[in-house]
Amino acid sequence: MFKSLDINENEEKKNIQPTEVERVKCLIVGSGPAGYTAAIYAARANLNPVMYEGLQPGGQLTTTTEVENYPGYPEGVTGPVMMEDFKKQAERFGTDVRWGMATKADFSGEIHKVWIDDSKLIEAESVIIATGATAKYLGLDDEQKYAGGGVSACATCDGFFYRGKDVAVVGGGDTAAEEAMYLAGLCKKVYLIVRRDVLRASKVMVERLMDTPNIEVLWKHQTKGLFGDGVVEGATLAKNLGEENEEEVKIKIDGFFLGIGHKPNSDIFAEYVDTDEVGYINTIPGTSKTKVPGVFACGDVQDSQYRQAVTAAGSGCMAAIDTERYLSEKN
Ligand code: NDP
Repeated sequence: MFKSLDINENEEKKNIQPTEVERVKCLIVGSGPAGYTAAIYAARANLNPVMYEGLQPGGQLTTTTEVENYPGYPEGVTGPVMMEDFKKQAERFGTDVRWGMATKADFSGEIHKVWIDDSKLIEAESVIIATGATAKYLGLDDEQKYAGGGVSACATCDGFFYRGKDVAVVGGGDTAAEEAMYLAGLCKKVYLIVRRDVLRASKVMVERLMDTPNIEVLWKHQTKGLFGDGVVEGATLAKNLGEENEEEVKIKIDGFFLGIGHKPNSDIFAEYVDTDEVGYINTIPGTSKTKVPGVFACGDVQDSQYRQAVTAAGSGCMAAIDTERYLSEKN
């Protein structure tokens, strides 16, 4: 995960004086399946890639449990183990994997500049952006109020604390379905709060949800707020009765989990590359190229459609190949 900075914040950071400057051939920002695959290919092509892992080394997959749909693991694999395998493979070919977060970028010149942790400056001949996406929140004040006291966007990280208790998950896509299934294995009861009367999740996940007795789907409900003395003790919902009529519903829960999608981590690059209205980086179709020569994007930060580990890995491969071609043409 990478810290999001808005453009004004990025602007303010322009005057930061780096304490150290390093020149690299290929900089990879982000360490999910896209970043590591780009690193494997770039290292094998002698591009001497330097990777900064970001706040969440291994990316979003380190917060999932079982990955059953990544080819090559017939029995499934846990997200953290899979990402450790990716990392070992990238390091085996010489990728320099480092702890640190990209906090500012300047792609206005021929050499691309990326600041790490607001201090070290990396001057890169090429940059591969693989910063992924971050969980979204509803925007309720109560999400802040109860942060660390019952509100979470990661069931696999925090579900353990709610063993035997009642919880709610909000959302109707695969993320929410996966979180609800995971929590159902730990908790007494799981409410799935869905704002419409259909789920967006894949058919197989919907079937699993419906077959799980301790999951109750609250169709056409929206969350209005949370309540409790210091920690979450319940949620206030509005049930849509149609024709603009609503009914207030209160549920007693100890944990409130977000599963409503993700925001691409593109803010620090948005001044230079094109993005869509949500913030996904636009690449030239069929390539990983952004509009800035020498800057490439792969994985969830540029993919609003598929967002799978395997598609992220594929796009990471494309980014490394595009980078190799760019550098060999340039030099
Ligand atoms: P999605 O965008 O697919 O779903 C988001 C869900 O949250 C939708 O049901 C949406 O409702 C709901 N939602 C959004 N905003 C709000 C709000 N303000 N209030 C209430 N509900 C809201 O995101 P996901 O993260 O679930 O999935 C993203 C992609 O990743 C998908 O392609 C998915 O298939 C994939 N994925 C795959 C997994 C796997 O294969 N194991 C696991 C997780 C994700 P509405 O439907 O009304 O818009």
